[in-house]
Amino acid sequence: MPDVSADRQTTASPATARSLGAYTTLRLGGPAGTLTVATEAGQAVAAVRAATAAGEPVFVLAGGSNVVVGDAGFAGTVVLLRTTGMRVVSRDSAGAVVRVAAGEPWDDVVARTVAEGLSGLECLSGIPGSAGATPIQNVGAYGQEVAHTIVAVHAYDRSADEVRAYTPAECGFGYRSSIFKHTDRWVVLEVDFRLAVSGESAPIRYAELARHLGVEVGERVPLQQARDAVLKLRAGKGMVLDAEDRDTWSVGSFFTNPVLSASQWAALRERADPPFWPGEQGAVKVPAAWLIEQAGFGKGYGRDGVAISTKHTLALTNRGGGTTTALLGLAREIRDGVAARFGVELHPEPVLVNCAF
Ligand SMILES: Cc1cc2nc3c(=O)[nH]c(=O)nc-3n(C[C@H](O)[C@H](O)[C@H](O)COP(=O)(O)OP(=O)(O)OC[C@H]3O[C@@H](n4cnc5c(N)ncnc54)[C@H](O)[C@@H]3O)c2cc1C
Repeated sequence: MPDVSADRQTTASPATARSLGAYTTLRLGGPAGTLTVATEAGQAVAAVRAATAAGEPVFVLAGGSNVVVGDAGFAGTVVLLRTTGMRVVSRDSAGAVVRVAAGEPWDDVVARTVAEGLSGLECLSGIPGSAGATPIQNVGAYGQEVAHTIVAVHAYDRSADEVRAYTPAECGFGYRSSIFKHTDRWVVLEVDFRLAVSGESAPIRYAELARHLGVEVGERVPLQQARDAVLKLRAGKGMVLDAEDRDTWSVGSFFTNPVLSASQWAALRERADPPFWPGEQGAVKVPAAWLIEQAGFGKGYGRDGVAISTKHTLALTNRGGGTTTALLGLAREIRDGVAARFGVELHPEPVLVNCAF
């Protein structure tokens, strides 16, 4: 994550000259109308309330690792979430509920739970961004997703002008989705995770990770071992932030893996023989990376300062001189190429702010 610690402020400050690219992992995006840094949940709520009252659009920004901000920026109030805090709110022999402030850096949260013998987040090691953003798209990797452990999301609802706790069922978690994505209605303030009190990981579900650990799928390993293995696998794919490595100047995966109905899957099988993961009710998930490569877009493909990562086909990266316009142009070319070759539509995973795909 770009180091924004120098920008921590407690009061609202105009930042018209300040590029939002300073706060995004893509390092792209034009200026904010107003930038307010919130270090307390109450400040975030107050800033959003004030913007609502003034009829100003609001954009909550945390780690900036899942947003594509337009070159024109955002002509409204940007609330930069920098709240901190993490505590155990209940504990019994089987588990503990950990309450985390939205602005806490996610990987610090995972590292702490692993160090304290709390199991359930270890495979989510190395994911950039904040704890409060994890419910937004039900963050997941290597066989775990936060929907497995979240027991409550405490959020400010702009429509009702109230803060309340949302149950997992109310959150509507799906594959890289929830009710909180693609809307400015809620500000997530805190998240409760129920974790097992155990030095062992949850059962390893992801075949590549199990192979790397030398265990069978379904076995458990010591928490730290799971974390180390995930960090190593991720680093090899440019999926751990490294300011020196432009393959990590991305939003992670730019496209979600398409989930095809039985008839769409049958149509694709007439054209190709892709790898797949079986889903529910005949649905099938197909790796977007495979489709992209087979459509002729290899690692490193790009132009105008943007390119597919040299380490991971799903990551579109800013090589240093890119713009959002160029990035979305590349994304469109890939989407259209895959549609022409396979008849499958790719969808972006990040949230697009004042720009279109
Ligand atoms: C190198 C790399 C690897 C990645 N790997 C993964 C991965 O393995 N799995 C995965 O799921 N994702 C991955 N991501 C995507 C990203 O890290 C996650 O989605 C992360 O949770 C985003 O957090 P953030 O704080 O950066 O959110 P931001 O980018 O700041 O915001 C994302 C969206 O959430 C909203 N938002 C953020 N915080 C709040 C809040 N508190 N309340 C209301 N709305 C909020 C924003 O308005 C925006 O719409 C990766 C990204 C990168 C750059």
